[in-house]
Amino acid sequence: MAQRFPCDTHIHTARCGHAGGLDEEFVEAGMERGLAAITLSDHAPFYWLPPEERDPALAMAADELPRYVDDVLALAERYRGRIEVLLGVEADYAEGHEEELARLLEAYPFDVVLGSVHLIDGWLVDAPTSLARLNQGQAEVDRIWARYADLLISAAGSGLFDVLTHLDLPKKFGHRASLPFAGRQSEIVAAVARSSCAVELSSGGRRKPVGEDYPAPDLLRELASAGVRFVLSSDAHAPAEVGLGFDELAANARAAGVEEVLVFRRRRGTSVRL
Ligand SMILES: [Zn+2]
Ligand SMILES: [Zn+2]
Repeated sequence: MAQRFPCDTHIHTARCGHAGGLDEEFVEAGMERGLAAITLSDHAPFYWLPPEERDPALAMAADELPRYVDDVLALAERYRGRIEVLLGVEADYAEGHEEELARLLEAYPFDVVLGSVHLIDGWLVDAPTSLARLNQGQAEVDRIWARYADLLISAAGSGLFDVLTHLDLPKKFGHRASLPFAGRQSEIVAAVARSSCAVELSSGGRRKPVGEDYPAPDLLRELASAGVRFVLSSDAHAPAEVGLGFDELAANARAAGVEEVLVFRRRRGTSVRL
Protein backbone atom coordinates (compact mmCIF):
# COMPACT_ATOMS: atom_id res chain seq x y z
CA MET A 1 0.00 0.00 0.00
CA ALA A 2 1.20 3.49 -0.78
CA GLN A 3 2.60 5.41 2.16
CA ARG A 4 0.18 7.60 4.06
CA PHE A 5 1.48 11.18 4.18
CA PRO A 6 0.61 13.63 6.95
CA CYS A 7 -0.48 16.63 4.88
CA ASP A 8 -0.50 18.40 1.54
CA THR A 9 0.05 21.97 2.70
CA HIS A 10 -0.41 23.94 -0.53
CA ILE A 11 -3.64 23.60 -2.52
CA HIS A 12 -5.49 26.19 -4.60
CA THR A 13 -9.21 26.44 -5.38
CA ALA A 14 -11.27 27.84 -8.24
CA ARG A 15 -11.51 31.19 -6.41
CA CYS A 16 -8.09 32.33 -7.64
CA GLY A 17 -9.28 32.23 -11.26
CA HIS A 18 -6.57 29.83 -12.51
CA ALA A 19 -7.36 26.59 -10.65
CA GLY A 20 -10.15 24.14 -11.49
CA GLY A 21 -12.38 21.83 -9.48
CA LEU A 22 -14.85 21.94 -6.63
CA ASP A 23 -13.51 22.27 -3.09
CA GLU A 24 -14.93 18.82 -2.30
CA GLU A 25 -13.01 17.29 -5.21
CA PHE A 26 -9.72 18.52 -3.76
CA VAL A 27 -10.62 17.09 -0.36
CA GLU A 28 -11.71 13.75 -1.83
CA ALA A 29 -8.55 13.56 -3.92
CA GLY A 30 -6.63 13.96 -0.65
CA MET A 31 -8.57 11.06 0.86
CA GLU A 32 -7.94 8.89 -2.19
CA ARG A 33 -4.21 9.63 -1.94
CA GLY A 34 -4.24 8.54 1.70
CA LEU A 35 -3.38 11.96 3.15
CA ALA A 36 -4.16 12.44 6.84
CA ALA A 37 -4.77 16.16 6.24
CA ILE A 38 -4.97 18.73 3.49
CA THR A 39 -4.56 22.47 3.76
CA LEU A 40 -6.46 24.63 1.32
CA SER A 41 -4.22 27.64 0.77
CA ASP A 42 -5.56 29.76 -2.02
CA HIS A 43 -3.97 32.99 -3.25
CA ALA A 44 -4.80 35.91 -0.95
CA PRO A 45 -6.14 39.08 -2.60
CA PHE A 46 -3.44 41.29 -4.14
CA TYR A 47 -3.55 43.65 -1.15
CA TRP A 48 -0.74 45.91 -2.42
CA LEU A 49 -2.70 47.00 -5.52
CA PRO A 50 -5.82 49.20 -5.72
CA PRO A 51 -8.86 46.91 -6.28
CA GLU A 52 -9.36 48.03 -9.90
CA GLU A 53 -5.84 46.90 -10.83
CA ARG A 54 -6.21 43.38 -9.40
CA ASP A 55 -6.32 40.63 -12.02
CA PRO A 56 -9.18 38.19 -11.18
CA ALA A 57 -7.19 35.41 -12.92
CA LEU A 58 -4.36 35.64 -10.38
CA ALA A 59 -5.97 35.72 -6.93
CA MET A 60 -9.33 35.83 -5.19
CA ALA A 61 -11.09 39.17 -4.75
CA ALA A 62 -11.03 40.87 -1.33
CA ASP A 63 -14.75 40.28 -0.71
CA GLU A 64 -14.26 36.58 -1.44
CA LEU A 65 -11.77 36.06 1.39
CA PRO A 66 -14.31 35.87 4.26
CA ARG A 67 -16.45 33.45 2.21
CA TYR A 68 -13.37 31.33 1.46
CA VAL A 69 -12.59 31.13 5.17
CA ASP A 70 -16.21 30.15 6.02
CA ASP A 71 -16.29 27.55 3.24
CA VAL A 72 -13.05 25.88 4.39
CA LEU A 73 -14.19 25.84 8.04
CA ALA A 74 -17.49 24.25 6.91
CA LEU A 75 -15.60 21.63 4.87
CA ALA A 76 -13.45 20.82 7.91
CA GLU A 77 -16.65 20.07 9.85
CA ARG A 78 -18.15 18.02 7.04
CA TYR A 79 -15.09 15.79 6.61
CA ARG A 80 -14.20 15.47 10.30
CA GLY A 81 -13.13 11.91 11.09
CA ARG A 82 -12.33 11.15 7.45
CA ILE A 83 -9.60 13.69 6.62
CA GLU A 84 -8.47 16.79 8.47
CA VAL A 85 -9.13 19.93 6.40
CA LEU A 86 -6.99 22.88 7.43
CA LEU A 87 -7.32 26.57 6.59
CA GLY A 88 -4.34 28.13 4.87
CA VAL A 89 -3.58 30.99 2.56
CA GLU A 90 -0.75 31.77 0.15
CA ALA A 91 0.17 35.41 0.53
CA ASP A 92 2.58 37.32 -1.66
CA TYR A 93 5.41 39.24 -0.08
CA ALA A 94 5.10 42.84 -1.32
CA GLU A 95 8.01 44.94 -0.07
CA GLY A 96 6.79 48.07 1.74
CA HIS A 97 3.26 46.72 2.30
CA GLU A 98 3.97 44.51 5.31
CA GLU A 99 1.46 46.23 7.60
CA GLU A 100 -1.41 45.82 5.13
CA LEU A 101 -0.68 42.12 4.93
CA ALA A 102 -0.42 41.77 8.71
CA ARG A 103 -3.87 43.37 9.06
CA LEU A 104 -5.37 41.09 6.43
CA LEU A 105 -3.92 37.96 8.05
CA GLU A 106 -4.87 38.72 11.64
CA ALA A 107 -8.56 38.95 10.74
CA TYR A 108 -8.90 35.18 10.13
CA PRO A 109 -8.13 31.98 12.04
CA PHE A 110 -5.58 30.60 9.58
CA ASP A 111 -3.81 27.34 10.38
CA VAL A 112 -0.90 28.34 8.17
CA VAL A 113 0.26 31.32 6.14
CA LEU A 114 2.41 30.44 3.14
CA GLY A 115 4.71 33.25 2.06
CA SER A 116 5.65 33.60 -1.58
CA VAL A 117 7.95 35.92 -3.45
CA HIS A 118 6.40 36.13 -6.91
CA LEU A 119 6.62 39.89 -7.15
CA ILE A 120 9.88 41.57 -8.21
CA ASP A 121 9.61 45.36 -8.46
CA GLY A 122 6.08 45.26 -9.85
CA TRP A 123 6.24 42.15 -12.10
CA LEU A 124 5.63 38.47 -11.36
CA VAL A 125 8.68 36.27 -11.82
CA ASP A 126 6.66 33.10 -12.43
CA ALA A 127 4.22 34.57 -14.99
CA PRO A 128 4.72 33.68 -18.66
CA THR A 129 5.05 37.44 -19.34
CA SER A 130 8.34 37.37 -17.38
CA LEU A 131 9.96 35.35 -20.18
CA ALA A 132 10.68 38.56 -22.10
CA ARG A 133 12.99 39.56 -19.21
CA LEU A 134 14.39 36.13 -18.45
CA ASN A 135 15.31 35.60 -22.10
CA GLN A 136 17.49 38.73 -22.21
CA GLY A 137 20.64 36.76 -21.42
CA GLN A 138 22.61 35.38 -18.49
CA ALA A 139 23.54 38.78 -16.99
CA GLU A 140 19.85 39.68 -16.69
CA VAL A 141 19.02 36.22 -15.30
CA ASP A 142 21.71 36.69 -12.63
CA ARG A 143 20.37 40.15 -11.81
CA ILE A 144 16.84 38.75 -11.40
CA TRP A 145 18.07 35.95 -9.10
CA ALA A 146 20.00 38.48 -6.99
CA ARG A 147 16.97 40.75 -6.63
CA TYR A 148 14.78 37.75 -5.81
CA ALA A 149 17.35 36.80 -3.13
CA ASP A 150 17.01 40.27 -1.51
CA LEU A 151 13.23 39.96 -1.41
CA LEU A 152 13.28 36.39 -0.13
CA ILE A 153 15.58 37.41 2.74
CA SER A 154 13.18 40.26 3.59
CA ALA A 155 10.16 37.93 3.39
CA ALA A 156 11.88 35.42 5.69
CA GLY A 157 12.64 38.12 8.24
CA SER A 158 9.23 39.82 8.05
CA GLY A 159 7.59 37.62 10.68
CA LEU A 160 4.49 37.40 8.49
CA PHE A 161 4.87 33.83 7.26
CA ASP A 162 4.95 30.30 8.68
CA VAL A 163 6.24 28.63 5.53
CA LEU A 164 8.23 29.91 2.56
CA THR A 165 7.01 28.42 -0.71
CA HIS A 166 8.88 27.35 -3.88
CA LEU A 167 12.12 28.80 -2.53
CA ASP A 168 14.04 28.77 -5.83
CA LEU A 169 11.11 29.94 -7.98
CA PRO A 170 13.07 31.91 -10.66
CA LYS A 171 14.18 28.52 -12.08
CA LYS A 172 10.57 27.76 -13.12
CA PHE A 173 11.12 28.22 -16.87
CA GLY A 174 14.63 26.72 -16.72
CA HIS A 175 16.66 29.91 -16.17
CA ARG A 176 19.48 29.15 -13.72
CA ALA A 177 21.83 31.71 -12.22
CA SER A 178 25.55 31.29 -13.04
CA LEU A 179 26.10 30.47 -9.37
CA PRO A 180 23.34 29.11 -7.09
CA PHE A 181 21.15 32.10 -6.14
CA ALA A 182 23.61 34.38 -7.96
CA GLY A 183 26.23 33.56 -5.32
CA ARG A 184 23.95 34.19 -2.35
CA GLN A 185 22.76 30.70 -1.47
CA SER A 186 24.48 30.48 1.92
CA GLU A 187 23.08 33.91 2.82
CA ILE A 188 19.59 32.64 1.93
CA VAL A 189 20.03 29.47 3.99
CA ALA A 190 21.22 31.47 7.00
CA ALA A 191 18.32 33.94 6.72
CA VAL A 192 15.74 31.16 6.49
CA ALA A 193 17.30 29.26 9.41
CA ARG A 194 17.27 32.45 11.52
CA SER A 195 13.67 33.24 10.62
CA SER A 196 12.09 30.05 11.99
CA CYS A 197 10.02 29.83 8.79
CA ALA A 198 9.61 26.30 7.48
CA VAL A 199 10.23 25.65 3.78
CA GLU A 200 7.96 23.69 1.50
CA LEU A 201 9.13 20.57 -0.27
CA SER A 202 7.10 21.11 -3.41
CA SER A 203 6.42 18.72 -6.24
CA GLY A 204 4.94 21.68 -8.16
CA GLY A 205 8.22 22.34 -9.96
CA ARG A 206 8.23 18.99 -11.70
CA ARG A 207 5.08 20.02 -13.61
CA LYS A 208 6.81 23.19 -14.82
CA PRO A 209 9.34 23.60 -17.68
CA VAL A 210 12.27 23.21 -15.23
CA GLY A 211 11.00 19.71 -14.30
CA GLU A 212 12.54 19.78 -10.81
CA ASP A 213 11.09 19.95 -7.30
CA TYR A 214 11.51 23.06 -5.14
CA PRO A 215 14.02 23.39 -3.55
CA ALA A 216 16.78 21.97 -5.77
CA PRO A 217 18.71 19.03 -4.22
CA ASP A 218 21.83 21.02 -3.20
CA LEU A 219 19.73 23.79 -1.63
CA LEU A 220 17.59 21.23 0.18
CA ARG A 221 20.69 19.58 1.68
CA GLU A 222 22.04 22.93 2.87
CA LEU A 223 18.70 23.92 4.42
CA ALA A 224 18.38 20.56 6.18
CA SER A 225 21.86 20.76 7.65
CA ALA A 226 21.13 24.29 8.89
CA GLY A 227 18.20 22.87 10.89
CA VAL A 228 15.40 24.29 8.72
CA ARG A 229 12.05 22.48 9.00
CA PHE A 230 9.85 21.47 6.08
CA VAL A 231 6.27 20.81 4.96
CA LEU A 232 5.06 18.64 2.06
CA SER A 233 3.28 20.41 -0.76
CA SER A 234 1.97 19.87 -4.26
CA ASP A 235 0.86 23.45 -5.10
CA ALA A 236 -2.16 21.70 -6.69
CA HIS A 237 -4.30 23.82 -9.00
CA ALA A 238 -6.49 20.80 -9.93
CA PRO A 239 -7.80 17.89 -7.83
CA ALA A 240 -5.63 15.38 -9.76
CA GLU A 241 -2.52 17.23 -8.54
CA VAL A 242 -3.22 16.78 -4.80
CA GLY A 243 -0.41 14.80 -3.17
CA LEU A 244 1.17 14.24 -6.55
CA GLY A 245 4.75 12.96 -6.52
CA PHE A 246 4.93 12.73 -2.73
CA ASP A 247 6.65 9.31 -2.72
CA GLU A 248 9.58 10.68 -4.68
CA LEU A 249 9.50 14.02 -2.86
CA ALA A 250 9.77 12.21 0.49
CA ALA A 251 12.48 9.83 -0.75
CA ASN A 252 14.58 12.79 -1.97
CA ALA A 253 14.02 14.60 1.32
CA ARG A 254 15.12 11.57 3.35
CA ALA A 255 18.22 11.29 1.17
CA ALA A 256 18.98 14.94 2.03
CA GLY A 257 18.71 14.18 5.76
CA VAL A 258 15.12 15.26 6.41
CA GLU A 259 13.48 12.89 8.91
CA GLU A 260 10.31 14.75 9.79
CA VAL A 261 7.93 17.34 8.39
CA LEU A 262 5.59 19.80 10.06
CA VAL A 263 1.80 20.01 9.99
CA PHE A 264 0.56 23.51 10.89
CA ARG A 265 -2.55 24.10 12.98
CA ARG A 266 -3.46 27.58 14.25
CA ARG A 267 -0.04 28.70 13.02
CA ARG A 268 1.98 26.21 15.09
CA GLY A 269 3.89 23.35 13.50
CA THR A 270 3.75 19.81 14.86
CA SER A 271 6.45 17.33 13.81
CA VAL A 272 5.47 14.15 12.04
CA ARG A 273 7.91 11.43 11.03
CA LEU A 274 8.46 11.32 7.28
ZN1 LIG B 1 -1.70 29.77 -8.43
ZN1 LIG C 1 3.17 30.43 -5.68
